[in-house]
Amino acid sequence: MEEDKEEVKSFKDLGVCDQLIEACDNLGWKHPSKIQAEAIPHALEGKDLIGLAQTGSGKTGAFALPILQALLETPQAFFACVLSPTRELAIQIAEQFEALGSGIGVKCAVLVGGVDNVQQSIALGKRPHIVVATPGRLLDHLSNTKGFSLRTLKFLVLDEADRLLNEDFEKAIDELLSVIPRERNTYLYSATMTKKVRKLQRACLRNPVKIEAASKYSTVDSLKQQYLFVPAKHKNCYLVYILSEKSGSTSMVFTRTCDSTGLLAQMLRNLGLRAIPISGHMTQAKRLGALNKFKAGECNILVCTDVASRGLDIPSVDMVINYDIPSNSKDYIHRVGRTARAGRSGVAISIVSQYELEWYIQIEKLIGKKLPMFPAQEEEVLLLLERVTEAKRIADMKIKEAGGKKKRRGGEDDEVEGIERYSHGKSSKKSKKR
Ligand code: AMP
Repeated sequence: MEEDKEEVKSFKDLGVCDQLIEACDNLGWKHPSKIQAEAIPHALEGKDLIGLAQTGSGKTGAFALPILQALLETPQAFFACVLSPTRELAIQIAEQFEALGSGIGVKCAVLVGGVDNVQQSIALGKRPHIVVATPGRLLDHLSNTKGFSLRTLKFLVLDEADRLLNEDFEKAIDELLSVIPRERNTYLYSATMTKKVRKLQRACLRNPVKIEAASKYSTVDSLKQQYLFVPAKHKNCYLVYILSEKSGSTSMVFTRTCDSTGLLAQMLRNLGLRAIPISGHMTQAKRLGALNKFKAGECNILVCTDVASRGLDIPSVDMVINYDIPSNSKDYIHRVGRTARAGRSGVAISIVSQYELEWYIQIEKLIGKKLPMFPAQEEEVLLLLERVTEAKRIADMKIKEAGGKKKRRGGEDDEVEGIERYSHGKSSKKSKKR
């Protein structure tokens, strides 16, 4: 590969200052990642950037280091604002800023929905250098928190720009662009280049340098991708089969709806597997709680929706299972990007039912290869059928019960064995019954 022939650059070669090199060293970052090596020199020259890079590529460092270096040169409150589509990603970005900036006294504030507004206003009162926010909550504070404005902002970062534009954030971003200085630097990072991202690029970047950390939609070589074609009614059985074949691995199981994350995790738990769900239906505190249990190794199977597939900084996932095939093939790339990171190997297995064949074919087209089949003997898999059916029945019952209790308590969440209980009435509109 061409990449191998390139000499490995150091942070010093890129122009990073000694204080920040030390911070990288403290985090164990010995060499810049590819996106960092490409982005940082341009950023330090004061250019706007558009970066195509996925989570796991080190893109946070690619924008945080030049911002911190500029901040060191001209320290100022409300110096940079980073927008993120999800709360978890915002928190992780702030954590990286804090980790890199701890030696130089960098103050960050995180403004995200689902957590107390007052605490955030207090944090803003301390005049942080960096604000990391989801768009809605940022606008909320701009209108309601006295003394807070971004009129002196020097850097704007739009992280996961493709998602920032997909999810009704467009209006909020337009509004935000109208209240921040035009004289600023803008970095736009996105895993995929969509029409909307191009539009945003025109709207807010000046002559940007475009950098790409990976070729278009490719998946890394250390990722082993396989598929299984199974009847929809036996999906659960195959899922349990794969998880037990690879027991001990850390896995992320992707489903299409929030409701099925809760149900599947409960079913897997009934079978003695250490599964935990994470989805948009959970409160922020519970999402972080679930993520921490997974990170700490208390649970080794994270059952999640696409909300969780981006941005989350989860090291060392050995396996990604697509329990539901995504209808948008780019989501496949994001999902499997959770494994085989930073040169490690990883496995991605897609369980394809008769209803999902078309979507699966689109995925093969996008990645430009035909994938091999995961070897599974049907007779062996179906030996699990009785146990799995029973576990599913109990999970259904528990969740229905919890839904009823929740209603009686006036919608307050409850938790049993780490599983958030859902009311079935709360089912996502998008959810499809098969
Ligand atoms: P990101 O793509 O920004 O979400 O980063 C993914 C992970 O890679 C984070 O845990 C970072 O701490 C880590 N990371 C970022 N840059 C480097 C680097 N140059 N060397 C080693 N690890 C890094």
